[in-house]
Amino acid sequence: MLKERYELGLIGWPADYSLSPLIHKTALLALELEGDYRLFAVPPLPESNVVIDGLMKDMRRCRLHGFNVTVPYKCSILPQMDSLTPQAEAIGAVNTIFHTDGRLVGDNTDAAGFMIDLNDRLKLEPANALILGAGGAARAVAYSMCYAGWQVCVAARRVPQAARLIADFAHLASQPMQAVSLEASDLERHALQCSLIVNATPIGMGNRAGESPWPDSLPLPDGVAIYDLVYRPKETVLMRSARQAGGLVCGGLGMLVEQAALAFERWTGRDAPRAAMLEAAESQLSKM
Ligand code: NAP
Repeated sequence: MLKERYELGLIGWPADYSLSPLIHKTALLALELEGDYRLFAVPPLPESNVVIDGLMKDMRRCRLHGFNVTVPYKCSILPQMDSLTPQAEAIGAVNTIFHTDGRLVGDNTDAAGFMIDLNDRLKLEPANALILGAGGAARAVAYSMCYAGWQVCVAARRVPQAARLIADFAHLASQPMQAVSLEASDLERHALQCSLIVNATPIGMGNRAGESPWPDSLPLPDGVAIYDLVYRPKETVLMRSARQAGGLVCGGLGMLVEQAALAFERWTGRDAPRAAMLEAAESQLSKM
């Protein structure tokens, strides 16, 4: 019998740091599926369109079976899609491409990946939440939270970016959403009623590992829970502050694995081996 083979990959720049190849190759191996998951590091130059066009053509011809998309292409790749899932359309960003009968479908698994992991790990009832950042990941988080009945306030260094985000999702919210700055005075006014703060900025990650998106001058609200999308380091400065103040905390590795698992299921139609995927990612991170 001819064995299924999956040619998968990630388009982004830079992409070398990504854990996605390890996570997906682990999943293929665990299910004894043949295939590969390659990095397509495409620098954001005028020629990048030609490279991405070529990859999409290969996908239409079924030479490639599925892609993840990361920064800076999550939005710019939208016009290449034949259709979008409702969540990708609402969020305005694609992180997963699959095909049905040669037609390219853009999906966004960050939103469900975040919400599934939030519910699994922090088990909070929907209430007031503050999202720090208003980029692509913040849009996926805000969409899933509004959908699940959370009251969301978005704080960003560029308030108009936060205002655009809340305008796009206002129809999903049962009460008006707020857009504020990351200044202590704004956060103090809006964070007090929050049971959850989500960091969707890169602050706390990589060469900013010693920093927090939360101002030093402002204590975290009592007992507030933190979900930090950053997963490297395992515990960010923001998470440590909240843990020391008695709050529940969660880093972004579970979301990374869940969004990957949902993408893998789109591509293969098989249940993703989440435990093996998480274990591989944790083991890799512990060596870094
Ligand atoms: P993005 O589209 O570039 O958005 C980043 C947001 O953070 C923007 O609002 C940006 O503001 C803001 N920001 C960046 N540097 C800042 C600074 N120094 N001070 C204040 N605000 C700052 O990136 P993204 O795709 O949303 O990703 C955001 C973070 O989430 C990254 O760390 C990424 O690795 C992580 N992430 C994790 C997962 C997961 O599965 N765990 C999934 C997706 C993303 P400006 O627009 O003004 O720069």
